[in-house]
Amino acid sequence: MAAQILDGKKLSQDTENELGVRVAALKQKNHGNPPILATILVGADPASATYVRMKQNACKRIGMESIAVEMPADSTTKELLRKISELNKNTNCHGILLQHPVPPQIDERACFDQIALTKDVDGVTCQGFGRMAMNEDAYGSATPQGIMRLLEAYKIPLAGKRAVVVGRSPILGKPMALMLLNANATVTICHSKTKNLPEIIETADVLVGAVGRPEFIRSNWIADNAVVIDAGFHPGGIGDVELEPLFGRVSALTPVPGGVGPMTINTLILQCVEAAEKALPSS
Ligand code: NAP
Repeated sequence: MAAQILDGKKLSQDTENELGVRVAALKQKNHGNPPILATILVGADPASATYVRMKQNACKRIGMESIAVEMPADSTTKELLRKISELNKNTNCHGILLQHPVPPQIDERACFDQIALTKDVDGVTCQGFGRMAMNEDAYGSATPQGIMRLLEAYKIPLAGKRAVVVGRSPILGKPMALMLLNANATVTICHSKTKNLPEIIETADVLVGAVGRPEFIRSNWIADNAVVIDAGFHPGGIGDVELEPLFGRVSALTPVPGGVGPMTINTLILQCVEAAEKALPSS
């Protein structure tokens, strides 16, 4: 059986087309003013700079604008907190993205949590996480929320399924597990101290690999007919899962590239458009 390809590239392009229409409508209702995402880059890490540029380009493609905040690598927590507070007060700015990771002298958690809940379109605040976990209205962390959108678009059933998430980072594994739980999957979270990882992975109807190590999850640990979500992306276009042998064996998988990757930025801009729609004064 050939695996169904969960095509994040196509879904994100289709969504961009829809978002273009929504942004045009927003501009019309708001005196020509588009939704605006503020991006904050601290330091000059080339990978982070590339991610920020990709996010700004995605804004442009759908008619949104961005405010590019660039701060020196030796910035302090206090300086970054002040900048975020300014953006919180700026009514022209609808969403705030603080590019992760920040330099080590900065308290990243404090800075994430400074972002106003209404502008937390990347889903990084503790409050947003807690609300999401409680099934209350909140913007989900962009990568796991993008994965949920992909699963939904392809009508992958989750209720009653055994889901295994490998990784428990605050922006990926942990929110992923709670989103799957809220979708009524039975969820196991694995991490670096987990024992018997291959045996646990073998039980997965739905597997999410979010480990940060190239092809760490071996194909022979994965059951036939599983749904395999690979969040990883490494040089050479490989993910966290050894995908190649799975194409003829599992029921569905996200390719690398073109699976989870495009969904992250797409979810960020989707949530920023939603924030701008909510900010519009009701007529
Ligand atoms: P991270 O912060 O480094 O977290 C990695 C997680 O994997 C940790 O929870 C860690 O466990 C766990 N882990 C490490 N070694 C393990 C092992 N031997 N067995 C089981 N678990 C192990 O990484 P992340 O930010 O979550 O990212 C994960 C992957 O997703 C990376 O490949 C990254 O490039 C990718 N990613 C993609 C996007 C996208 O837009 N597509 C966005 C973000 C991340 P401990 O907690 O015990 O240390």
